[in-house]
Formats: sequence, C-alpha cells, structure tokens
Amino acid sequence: MTNPTPAVHDRLATLTDTELPAYLYDMTALREHAAAVRAALPERVELYYAAKANPEAEILAALGPYVDGYEVSSGGELAHVAKAVPGRPLAFSGPGKTPAELAHALELGVERFHVESLHELHVLAALAARTPSDAAGGAPRPGVLLRFNLPLAAASLEGSSLAMGGRPTPFGLDPAEADTAVRLLTDGTYPQLRLLGVHAHLASGLDAPEQLAVAESIVTWAADLAGRHRVRIAEVNVGGGMSVDYAAPERRFDWTSYGAGLARLADAHPDLTLRIEPGRALTAYCGWYATEVLDVKRSHGEEFAVVRGGTHHMRTPATKGHDQPCTVVPVSEWPHPWPRPAAATERVTLTGQLCTPKDLLSRDVPAPGLRAGDRVAFGLAGAYAWNISHHDFLMHPRPGFHFLTPEPTA
Ligand SMILES: *Cc1c(COP(=O)(O)O)cnc(C)c1O
Repeated sequence: MTNPTPAVHDRLATLTDTELPAYLYDMTALREHAAAVRAALPERVELYYAAKANPEAEILAALGPYVDGYEVSSGGELAHVAKAVPGRPLAFSGPGKTPAELAHALELGVERFHVESLHELHVLAALAARTPSDAAGGAPRPGVLLRFNLPLAAASLEGSSLAMGGRPTPFGLDPAEADTAVRLLTDGTYPQLRLLGVHAHLASGLDAPEQLAVAESIVTWAADLAGRHRVRIAEVNVGGGMSVDYAAPERRFDWTSYGAGLARLADAHPDLTLRIEPGRALTAYCGWYATEVLDVKRSHGEEFAVVRGGTHHMRTPATKGHDQPCTVVPVSEWPHPWPRPAAATERVTLTGQLCTPKDLLSRDVPAPGLRAGDRVAFGLAGAYAWNISHHDFLMHPRPGFHFLTPEPTA
C-alpha cells in the first residue's frame, strides 16, 4: 500500500470520471525527496539525473536546484532536455548513438560523452575534428568518459533486477579494449577529445551496501587503469540503479549510508570527481496513476476489477512482473438504478481495458467490497511508467497530466 499525498488525494477528488485516468505528480514531494538525496551526498559527489526515468519537462525543471546535470541516452532526450533545462551540463550516454546524434551533441556543446565502443570513439573523434573548438578560445574540447562493462564479483549483482554489466551485454566497452581506448585519447591520435574518465552503469535495483561495493570496485579499477597508463582520470561515474522496492514502498534506498560510504571513497581518492546518475529512485515516489473502477466481476472463483486505463499507460507492472502498489479511494455515489458491481471476497485483481491477459496492474489486492465507481491510485508511478508504455495499442484516450504545486499564498 502507498497512500497518496494530501495534494494527490485532493486533486483526485476534484477530477470527473472522464478526466481519469490521470497522472498526478506531487511536485513538492519530488522537491523534498531530491533535496534529501542531495543533502545525504557529500558535497564533492556530483548528482546527475538519468532523464529516461521520467523526462517530463516539469520534472526536469523541478530537479534543477538539486542536480549537477542530466544524463541523456538518445538524440531525442538530448534535444528535449537541452530545451527543458537550458544551459545545464549534459552527459550523452546510450549504445548505438548515430553520427547525426553525436554531431548534434557536439554542436550543442555537450560537455561529456559516455563512449560505448571503439567505433563510437572513432566516429566522435572524426566529427569533433570538423567541429570548431578550443583553439579560438571557444568551447573546451569535448570530454570523454569511457563506459566499461566491468567484471564484478557476482555477489554484488545478486540483488539486481536488471544487470547491464558483469556479464555479456551490448553496453560499454569490454575491459580488454581499455588500453587501446585510453591510448587513442592520450597518445596524440585524437587531440580533439579529452579523456575525462570512466563510466559504468552495471545494474539496477541494488541496495546501498551493494551499490557501494559496486562503486568501490569501479573506482579501484579506474585507478588501476590510470596508474598503468600514467594518465590522469579525473572523473568516475558509477551509474544509477538505486533500488526502488515496489513490494514495500516505504523501504526506500538508504541514501544516508550510501552518502557516508561515498564520502569515504571520495576521501580515499581526493583528486577524483565521483558522480552518480540515478533515475528511478529520484522520481518514482512523486507520481501516481489514478483512475476509477469500471466493472467488478467474478471469473472461475477469482475476482477482477477492470479499471479505466491500463498497462498501455503504465507498463511498469507488466515489464517488471510485479504488482503496482495501490490505494483504493472509495466513492459513495452510484448513479444507476441497477445493482452496483462489488467484490464479494477479500482480494481483487486489478486489470486494465486492454484485450490481453497481460494487462495486469496489481494482483490479489486486499480490497474487500471494492465497487464499480470507486477510485484507485497506483503509487510509485513517477518513473518508467507513462514514458515506457505502448500508448497507441487499442487507441484508448490518453491520461491527463497534473503537476501539483502548492497554491501561491497571497
Ligand atoms: C537507465 C540508466 C541510468 C538510470 O538507472 P536507474 O535504474 O533509473 O537509476 C543511469 N545510467 C545509465 C547509463 C542508464 O542507462
């Protein structure tokens, strides 16, 4: 269960049935959470927001005061984020960047490129050679962080829900290519680029102790690489992937102990800029997907409530195979003369309007007596929810979007 905040609860009460479903974002909750995360981190550790978790312009702007920059993973995100939060530092990530996307990033003056392969390094270098740079006192040379898929002790990735590293994946350079990549950037082959450091985003869904172990192994590996080549590695980005527990929303990632651990790591490497780039754990908690129950039915001994909307708006439970935490908001009015459909048992499975058995939002929800016309608010819908969903499947209308901020006091 996750109770909607008062702002979400109040707005939901004012919306009519046809204004549902709706995404409700509590922008005050977002700001407070981001401020707490920032406060838990040592000052020296930089915080970038991974825009792909939720790229709504309002969200990007609200995070502005608490983050040092934004991580973008496509040309589309790059153009969008550069417009939504102009002038803020960007890091361009993602496998399979096209030459046109890289050229656009160079034109925009993107500070950091997370380079994912030797081929991409060659393409970037060729493009950068054609882009006017430093010489005339203009923009500094584009900086490169080499993204590596590092071997990690299997134990550190055990709790992970999505492993991008430590096993064969299409992400980043293989460690065997490290020496070649560093040489290209430091032996005069590509003077138009600057080697800034190392990037690794190895897994999602890790708790603080696991994340710290991952961060330590990345930093140690990067320090070895720098020592071997007698070059300076100024920055290490240890990625995102801080856990969000959908089964126990109140159990949040322990930013305080993570921040304390990062402080120890930063103290051990005083010349290094450490950076993290979480997405999900920053924005998941501020969003709700709220809707109404259209029908309640019994089928072969189990009860189902069909809600207005579904996984075409919030695909998160379908992709992650979990039950989205939710709260029922009872509605007493029933405008029809016929009996109101209602659950007879304790547990109800909440499904959407799609013609597929995969349109499951939450199974076996304890909702005794749930009725058609009641409302349901699904929590933890602020990340990887609307923007990862297959909106056009079945051509249902789109949800409303509400970014809730307190009324200015006169
Ligand atoms: C997706 C992604 C992130 C953010 O991951 P979260 O699990 O949302 O914290 C960070 N860095 C890279 C490179 C990513 O692809």
